[in-house]
Amino acid sequence: MTNQEKEVLVIGGGIGGVAAALASAEAGHKTKILEQAPQFGEIGAGIQMGPNAMAVLERFGVAGEIAKVAVFPKRLVLKDVYTAKELAVLDLGDEFKEKYGFPYIVLHRSDLHRVLVEAARKNPLISLVNNQVIETVEEDTSGVTVTNQRGERFIGKAVIGADGLWSKTRKYFSDDEAICSHYVAYRGTVPIEEISSDANMDDVIMWIGPNLHVVQYPVRKGELYNQVVVFKSQNYKPDSNDWGTPEEMDKVFEGCHPLVENALSFIQRQIRWPMYDRLPIANWTKGNFTLLGDAAHPMLQYLAQGGCQALEDASYLADMLQLYGENFEQAFLAYQEERIPRTAKVQRSARAWGEIIHTEDPVSILLRDTLLEQKEAKEFEMIDWLYGYKKLPAGKVSK
Ligand SMILES: Cc1cc2nc3c(=O)[nH]c(=O)nc-3n(C[C@H](O)[C@H](O)[C@H](O)COP(=O)(O)OP(=O)(O)OC[C@H]3O[C@@H](n4cnc5c(N)ncnc54)[C@H](O)[C@@H]3O)c2cc1C
Repeated sequence: MTNQEKEVLVIGGGIGGVAAALASAEAGHKTKILEQAPQFGEIGAGIQMGPNAMAVLERFGVAGEIAKVAVFPKRLVLKDVYTAKELAVLDLGDEFKEKYGFPYIVLHRSDLHRVLVEAARKNPLISLVNNQVIETVEEDTSGVTVTNQRGERFIGKAVIGADGLWSKTRKYFSDDEAICSHYVAYRGTVPIEEISSDANMDDVIMWIGPNLHVVQYPVRKGELYNQVVVFKSQNYKPDSNDWGTPEEMDKVFEGCHPLVENALSFIQRQIRWPMYDRLPIANWTKGNFTLLGDAAHPMLQYLAQGGCQALEDASYLADMLQLYGENFEQAFLAYQEERIPRTAKVQRSARAWGEIIHTEDPVSILLRDTLLEQKEAKEFEMIDWLYGYKKLPAGKVSK
């Protein structure tokens, strides 16, 4: 088999993996997605996509389909969890859209994933395979060999590890462990008619308080209301699930505003999501092998950017694959050179923002709220670095 005929292998079929396959196919490569689950799908609830991610969805030709299932909120609002006072507002209207070229949207993550998977299925260069728990990756000058749980081997010309926070492919680059934040999330969607008039259809609301927050917004064209309840457990025990329980949640939220109390009454209590991230790493590329998405840079969700960053990765990777043709080593090096500093900044900023919104120190709370109050809803300087990311290919090189 010539190198041209071999495939690019993508390990993991989440948002990042499917976007990586679209990127690889856009550069003309036959591409195979290897997913461990018996079906392609997403669990969880809503997801926010900033204009930096919408630019990528447009590039991959799916923005139209996404618009059919998304909600286009008018404002991002920070509220005090006890008093319901608006602490800060970001206006997502025309000026925002004009400045960043794309809107801010919220949608069900299963809708986002389905639209991406449909685009991949329609692409003749992409194949999708389930029940593939990938265990090992071997890489040498002739290509890559990926082995699954049954010992079956896939031979390709390059491999992209997009297997998420608990990545097996990351182990080839770092022996770091995921870091538990001691926070847990409970999340889910409720049919809009069940949640009564409390549901605000125009805003993404983040209620904040010491060691806790709640996020609310509509999804699926307003048919469902998404809610995420997050708090820091005081009972954290490593290697145990007996912390951050629903009972602890009820206790932690005692005394909060009635609208938040109501949110809690609708939250599903069966699945508990402990929150982890990892520290940035200095290298995630070796020859024809690279990482993408949470496998490369898992972050806390406080800036709502993990999925957006995976999409940005895919877009920049597409540029580099087009630039360097069959020279994957060069393409992957150029990709990580741009993406490591960018994603490391988002990882660190997500942690810092978490400290700010969750602070329990009264002086810090006063300072934060005073500063936030002075900010105009159409003042975009603070968010420019995040939503205004427009990195274009560096220019033609000889292949
Ligand atoms: C509470 C919460 C809220 C969030 N909100 C937002 C938000 O609003 N906006 C945003 O942009 N991001 C958000 N995120 C982050 C976002 O969900 C992730 O960053 C994103 O899903 C990462 O996508 P991924 O494809 O890299 O990884 P994953 O979604 O983890 O996908 C990895 C895939 O690889 C598969 N896999 C794993 N191991 C193997 C293996 N060995 N072999 C084969 N397949 C394998 C898995 O089954 C999975 O399908 C949030 C996260 C959380 C926890």
